[in-house]
Amino acid sequence: MVIDFHTHTFPDAMAARTIAGLEKAGGIQAHTDGTRSGLQESMRRAGIDWSVVLPVVTKPHQFHTINTVAAEITGKDGILSFGGIHPDTEDYKGELKTIQSLGLKGIKLHPDYQKTFIDDRKYLRIIDYAAELSLVTVIHAGIDIGLPSPVHCPPDRAARMLASLDAEHAAIVLAHTGGYDQWDEAEEYLVGKPVYLDISYSLHRIPQEQFIRIVRDHGADRMLFATDSPWGGQKETLERFQGLPLNQEEKDRILYQNAQKLLRMEEEG
Ligand SMILES: [Zn+2]
Repeated sequence: MVIDFHTHTFPDAMAARTIAGLEKAGGIQAHTDGTRSGLQESMRRAGIDWSVVLPVVTKPHQFHTINTVAAEITGKDGILSFGGIHPDTEDYKGELKTIQSLGLKGIKLHPDYQKTFIDDRKYLRIIDYAAELSLVTVIHAGIDIGLPSPVHCPPDRAARMLASLDAEHAAIVLAHTGGYDQWDEAEEYLVGKPVYLDISYSLHRIPQEQFIRIVRDHGADRMLFATDSPWGGQKETLERFQGLPLNQEEKDRILYQNAQKLLRMEEEG
């Protein structure tokens, strides 16, 4: 069993345009065409059973469109979609309840696209209430290669966010091993804190010795396998992960056991 905790898809009508724009902004090449069937094809090739799709609400008015699509695609054919919410929304409680009632297991926040620092009270109240509703919160962390400075969720601010909440009782995931291209800061500020780290778009950049040290110091029970597909190749990332000098128990936790627990997959069978 393998669960990829961090992927992206776009509606068919806009996938080609969106992928082209993001490729240009980041100077990178996508590994799928950005559609849901493109992701499913990639999953078959890689041997991945479930992909968590993380939509980003970049403007508050996109809430309904994005979460309606999320509800349509979630739970079938290997796709589990989270919902999206914007920090500038007035009715954050109502929107989070909507996400919960649509059967979505969590939310994605992207502080750079949403131009808000992660320790801003607008985010704190969202993460807090999401936790109350048993929703998982996944947050983009570190540098976004397609966007200019400032970094809205660097490890020190992420640590401040965690300290401002009842993080022990929330299910918070920081993407990109705690902060893309800010590995030293992630290690300094986040290792050992009550937070999950997804390993998406990290393994090709972070020194292997440092990655293993982060896993061991933070704990394999708080790490999640993830690729950031289409930006990371699922097959390539999985092969790279399998080649790491971790033991099978650690790998199993990271590849699916922690995710199953977070997504409450066991109890639903
Ligand atoms: Zn991503």
